[in-house]
Parts: sequence; C-alpha cells; structure tokens
Amino acid sequence: RAKQDGRGAYRLFEATMNDELRDRRLVANDLANAADAGQLDLAYQPQVDLITGDVTGFEALIRWRHPERGEVPPGIFIPIAEENGLILGIGEWVLRTACAEAAGWRVPLSISVNVSAAQIHNPAFARLIHEVLIETGLSPARLEIEVTETALVRDLVRAVTTLRQVRGLGVRVAIDDFGTGHSSLTHLSAFPFSRIKLDQSFVRTFDRNPQSAAIVHAVVELGRYLGTPVVAEGVERREELAFLRAEGCATAQGFLFGYPAPIGTFVGLQVRKAS
Ligand code: C2E
Ligand code: MG
Ligand code: MG
Ligand code: MG
Repeated sequence: RAKQDGRGAYRLFEATMNDELRDRRLVANDLANAADAGQLDLAYQPQVDLITGDVTGFEALIRWRHPERGEVPPGIFIPIAEENGLILGIGEWVLRTACAEAAGWRVPLSISVNVSAAQIHNPAFARLIHEVLIETGLSPARLEIEVTETALVRDLVRAVTTLRQVRGLGVRVAIDDFGTGHSSLTHLSAFPFSRIKLDQSFVRTFDRNPQSAAIVHAVVELGRYLGTPVVAEGVERREELAFLRAEGCATAQGFLFGYPAPIGTFVGLQVRKAS
C-alpha cells in the first residue's frame, strides 16, 4: 500500500513537472515574439528623496501582457528568458525603450534599468549602452543600471570590466536587492557601485524582527562610510518611512510613494509634445 501511494505520488510529481516544463517552453515561445507583437511595456516606480520628499527618478519595470494569459509577472518570465537566451533581446528592448521614454520627459529625472547576468557578461554591453545613449539623446548622468550580486558572480573579472566600462560612460550602477543572494562585502569594494539598494525584506520586517532593524541600520551606516548612498526598497508603511528617515537613509521606493505605473500617471512628467 505504502509503495503504491509512493508511486502514485511520484507519478503525480512527474506529471506536474512535465506540465511545468511544457508550460515554460510555451512561455519561452511566446516571449520570443512578445516585443515584436507589442506586448511588452515599461511601468515606472518613483524614487523619493527622504529629506526633501522630491521624486528623484524612476525605476523601469518590465510588463508583459500575454493575449491569453494576461499579465505575466517578471518574476516568472525573466528567469525563463534568462534560461532560453531571450534575455539579451528583451534587455536591449528595455534599455532602448527606457532611455527613449526618459529622454522625452519634461523633467530630467533619473531612470534606473534592471539588467541580467547575461547582459553584464556580454562583452558588447557597454557599447550597446553607448549606442542607445547616442540614439536617444539621453544624458548618461540620468541613467543608472541595477544589477544583483547573483548576476556578478559567474565571472567576476568580466563583470568588473563591464561595470567599469559602464561607469566610464558616466552611467551609474546600483547593486540591487542588497543583503540577499550571494551577499559579500567584497563585492562592495571590488565593483564600482554608485548606490546600494537595500532589499525590501529588511525594510518590511524592521519592527517585527530586531535583526532586520539592525541590518537596515548597518547598511545605511556602511553606505555612509563608503560614500555610497542607500535606496530602501519596498516601503509600504509610514512606520517604515519614519524609521528610514531616522536612520538617515537617502532615498526610498515603494507602494507608499507610488505603484509601478505608466509614466503618464505621474503628473508633470508627461512626454514633451513633439513640436
Ligand atoms: P526588483 O528590481 O528588485 O524590483 C522591485 C520589485 O518590487 C518590483 O516587482 C516592484 O513592483 C516591487 N515593489 C516595489 N515596491 C514595492 C512595495 O512597496 N511592496 C512590494 N511588495 N513590492 C514592491 P516586479 O515589477 O514584479 O519585478 C520583479 C523583479 O523582476 C525585479 O525586482 C527585477 O529583478 C525583475 N525585473 C523587472 N523588470 C526587469 C527588466 O526590465 N529586466 C530585468 N532583467 N529584470 C527585471
Ligand atoms: Mg531593481
Ligand atoms: Mg530590488
Ligand atoms: Mg528583486
């Protein structure tokens, strides 16, 4: 009996796994045409200066409207794109679209673009950024790329070279989801980061978990000593905001200030009228 149950469970597991594999293949197929089919878009989330309260810039977050599946979250399809070699094309679309849109804003705020490991490890990446900046007319000083530590560890030498080239263009580099993944303080000294994005998991739990509060405090302090400003991610509550302010965190992002949305939602930032 037990044996039979075990086998049944195994079969069920196998079936689920096959479904999931098939599903991932289907998603990958559709994803390959998503940009051409006009199904991709960028949502923008404001970043707010915690002293002045001003919006200093926006993070671009990719959105995929699938004709049958509806909105597929990037947390689902970005890893699939990374496995299937589609991320270079999608990443280029994101970079070009974000820079072109930001170049048209009335106010010259900064624009942060997420990039994946494969992009960082592509020797032509800095050249692509350079081309896109020239094409779109966006000032390099307005562009920031966001990389996670996980995206760097595949080939540290290559990654350092790419990030130095990117900084050489006058583009800033933020370390994303700091404190999660392959966190190592070595990365902070080995890579030319201009900002630290503190992962939302610490912000979210600061008042329930003393460890989280200690980590927020330590990272802000570390940023101060390194001369690398900290952006807190995922701020949802007033209490979190008050704590971050008291800690001296420079900038924050989160649902409390604004959900990721089409740029037209943010008053005063409408695209310049073509004259
Ligand atoms: P991320 O870069 O760390 O982006 C922050 C994520 O947290 C976004 O999810 C954002 O919508 C969400 N978020 C922002 N504020 C809050 C908050 O207050 N509370 C909560 N619960 N969540 C908040 P999203 O848009 O689903 O993106 C997920 C991840 O997908 C991103 O994490 C990033 O790693 C990746 N991603 C998104 N767009 C791109 C892209 O264009 N290229 C690449 N390579 N990755 C992307
Ligand atoms: Mg990010
Ligand atoms: Mg993040
Ligand atoms: Mg993330």
